[in-house]
Amino acid sequence: MGPLRSLQALLGASLLVLACGAIQSACAQDLQVEIYKGGFATVNSFIFSNGKSLVVMDVQRKTHESQKLADIIRAKNLPLTHILISHGHTDHFTGMDLFHKEFPDAQIVVASDAIRRDIKNYAIYMDSGGETGAEPALEPALRPRSAENPDGFDYENTIHVLPGNTLTLDGGGTLELTTDYEPAEAPHMTTVYSRDLNSLFLADFGYNKVHFWMGDDISRERIATWREELAKIKSRYAALNPKVYPGHGDPADMTLFDTMIRYIDDFTRVTSEAKSREEAMQKMMALYPDYGQADFFLKYSVENHVK
Ligand SMILES: [Zn+2]
Repeated sequence: MGPLRSLQALLGASLLVLACGAIQSACAQDLQVEIYKGGFATVNSFIFSNGKSLVVMDVQRKTHESQKLADIIRAKNLPLTHILISHGHTDHFTGMDLFHKEFPDAQIVVASDAIRRDIKNYAIYMDSGGETGAEPALEPALRPRSAENPDGFDYENTIHVLPGNTLTLDGGGTLELTTDYEPAEAPHMTTVYSRDLNSLFLADFGYNKVHFWMGDDISRERIATWREELAKIKSRYAALNPKVYPGHGDPADMTLFDTMIRYIDDFTRVTSEAKSREEAMQKMMALYPDYGQADFFLKYSVENHVK
């Protein structure tokens, strides 16, 4: 290459760098997402990468699965900057303590102070009798720090509330976070939209071929709100037609919303008409024979709604 052509090449390269600085989205096209599909509770974690840095969303319920997820992230040889927790349920946040120790430079973040409070409250609930035959007790490392338990998990200082409703990866690519939802599957929920991926991450507004969790404090009213919010989210994103990633189960397209609304209607009808829990279980399993978590999510949801 002659001196003139190498000068042109150099100019071309610096122009590209300038363009990347000016139009970040053009250079974040290679934002990618990888799903880690957990075994326990069929819960998903998502690893976002732009080739320069990583963000993980939700970190599993079982420590050995969190460890597997951490190993996958470490093998990418890129800095993990953020651990985003979508909402305050143990299947999404239990791995926090392991991640905090494995990746001390990564910040554990949530989209609102209310979600940080939900996480701590759910940890306390799980530690004081919330466990069931299907769900194990809280990891001891997540017992809240207190005068009696000075080595406990310091929720207030270890979990950071993001200052705005976006999370931009080091090196480009922005995740848009939405939290203005009414209490549904959880008291507060974060959904994530990525323009670069044209993908919508529903957290636990979304279930695909997995029975919905309607146990604990999820009342009839909250189920109805869940349905309303699904209809709203569907219309908000309809024109974009994104790929849809649920918190539980495989990715889908926008038709997942209608499937989920139908499930909610069926669950509501079956559990209000059933004479017994066994009858409700059988009817739901007959309607949704290929759905996972019948002996966990469906069982405790039916127990909660058929007295
Ligand atoms: Zn979940």
